[in-house]
Amino acid sequence: MLVKAFAKINLSLDIVGKREDGYHLLEMVMQNVDLHDDVIIEETEEGIVLTCNKGYVPVDERNIAYKAAKLLMDTKGIERGVSIDITKRIPVAAGLAGGSADAAAVLKGMNVLFNLQMSTEELMEVGLKLGADVPYCIVGGTCLCEGIGEIVTPLKPFSGYSVLLVKPSFGVSTKDAYGSFELDRINKHVDTKKLMKAMEDGDLNGVNYYSRNLLENVVLRRYPILKSIKQMLNRNGSAVTLMSGSGPTIYGIFSDVSDAENAAKVLNRNNNEVILTRTI
Ligand code: ATP
Repeated sequence: MLVKAFAKINLSLDIVGKREDGYHLLEMVMQNVDLHDDVIIEETEEGIVLTCNKGYVPVDERNIAYKAAKLLMDTKGIERGVSIDITKRIPVAAGLAGGSADAAAVLKGMNVLFNLQMSTEELMEVGLKLGADVPYCIVGGTCLCEGIGEIVTPLKPFSGYSVLLVKPSFGVSTKDAYGSFELDRINKHVDTKKLMKAMEDGDLNGVNYYSRNLLENVVLRRYPILKSIKQMLNRNGSAVTLMSGSGPTIYGIFSDVSDAENAAKVLNRNNNEVILTRTI
């Protein structure tokens, strides 16, 4: 069975508090793009066998897709095995939720394959144990995500916009980005309601004005090259330019696909990975 695992971008990322156990309380507007990994899941006699086309991605219990299969087997007492083959297209450690999307694909695929009849809510509950972005990846599309990622509210689709993803050659660890962030120093939170209204109206100027990622300053300070990527996107017709998740991917949303294609040529330097996709 083939399940597509779609990448996401953040139209916003706000940190609104911290729980006593140390988890950050978030408010994020998330959007799927067409870029996806292919996850092929098959039933086997026993155990979990994972394969991946990218040699630098671990294929043992460190892989979040492996963890998803193990967790579901333990939770549901599945005695058969699975083979999981991942064709990775989503850049790794990029802020695009590549791993989380693979994990969500495994949970959804195994739910069908083993006829588990789990509801979306149940799948999200299991998914949350694997990571904060997994519940969103199970729902997908355009969503407001709150709490520690477990409250996912679908929004009016913001589909069909051209998106240019620019991922520099280095990765950023999600843990490090949040670790360097100081909650006390926030002087302005995201106006999520106004952002959602602008998205609903298809008002890209408004989306640009209200879209914000609170981790961006921390990561941009550490990697000044990201500032020049933002400037280049802005100079080349991007209507909305922002860092996704904990970075380092910077994206531009374009109202005109030919502008996005031209910008792709300009940004294609310094070993940047440049991917033209669209919101779905
Ligand atoms: P997020 O936006 O959810 O923080 P990300 O895009 O920043 O995700 P991932 O691509 O999920 O980050 O990868 C983060 C780390 O997890 C990498 O160091 C990678 O080795 C490891 N990893 C484990 N499983 C996977 C997977 N299935 N795909 C990609 N990376 C994985």
